[in-house]
Amino acid sequence: MKQEQEPAGDGVDEVGPGVLRVQLPIDMPGLGHVNTYVLVDERGAAVIDPGLPGRATWSALADRLDKAGVGVKHVHTVVVTHSHPDHYGTAGKLAEETGADIVTHAAFRLWWAPHPCDVHVHDVDPDDDADGDPYAGPTTPWGTPNPRAGTGRDWLDESNFSHPRPARRLRDGDTIELAGRPWVALHTPGHTLDHLCLVDPEHGLLVSGDHVLPSITPHIAGLGTGRDPLKSFLASLDRIADYPGVETALPAHGHPFGTLRQRVDDIKRHHLERLDKLRTLLAGGASATVVELSHELFREAHWGLMAESETYAHLEHLRLRGDLERHDDTGPAAYRTAVGTSPT
Ligand SMILES: [Zn+2]
Ligand SMILES: [Zn+2]
Repeated sequence: MKQEQEPAGDGVDEVGPGVLRVQLPIDMPGLGHVNTYVLVDERGAAVIDPGLPGRATWSALADRLDKAGVGVKHVHTVVVTHSHPDHYGTAGKLAEETGADIVTHAAFRLWWAPHPCDVHVHDVDPDDDADGDPYAGPTTPWGTPNPRAGTGRDWLDESNFSHPRPARRLRDGDTIELAGRPWVALHTPGHTLDHLCLVDPEHGLLVSGDHVLPSITPHIAGLGTGRDPLKSFLASLDRIADYPGVETALPAHGHPFGTLRQRVDDIKRHHLERLDKLRTLLAGGASATVVELSHELFREAHWGLMAESETYAHLEHLRLRGDLERHDDTGPAAYRTAVGTSPT
């Protein structure tokens, strides 16, 4: 079993000075728990990524905070690394119950919510603003129903959910005081447009969210994540691996680890191999659709929307780099080698 799939333990581990790792149960494809980090200071505690919405999370969270010696009512800050439900799900309720401030990256947005109009998102290329996402229509560019169309949140038990409203939206390079010392915000788009990592330079700790996980490669969606999410992701990987002094990654799933550069290189290699495979498949003038190519990149057990979306992200990366051409005139998006490119 991969470590990200392990069921949530109920213990409290100290993973850095004043930094506690607790685990909350989740049941999502390939994931058995989410790590919630509790950062203790004189005022109480900050909590990072408090899990999915719902009662099971709430009672596990109350139990873990108790064991950590911090009552729920002493939570003063809730940091959310990115806009996926296993990270933001209980943030709104926790803030409501405690008066805590929610902190996110400036671009944080749930896909069904209007873009926060009072925020000018300097960190995000205007082309990448999800508001301008040309694919928010009823079907995806490859012709399947678009899960982002409409509100698309049948999965959500609204009676147990409070919308997270950030009191503070961090920009790249901002600092925030957690566990009694400054942490630096790093904007790391790729897995989502609004992904936030935090660095504690004094102790070499990196809160890595879903940007880097110890044994599974984070999903790179091709929809709602900007024009070239794979390019953003690869750049964001180097950004954290090159950050001076980082020694220990604290991921949102799986165990903390100390081999960040090696892990980053492995994840980069995985994507470069996929790009090579796509170019090889399309060598010799063949044309193929996103769905067909997703069946070449992914095992049958993984076929479906997530595989298609990630394949699309890779194809668009190759197209924007000039290696491939896209043609949609006869139906769903299909790709072939660009004229004048010698396939390698
Ligand atoms: Zn995620
Ligand atoms: Zn996650």
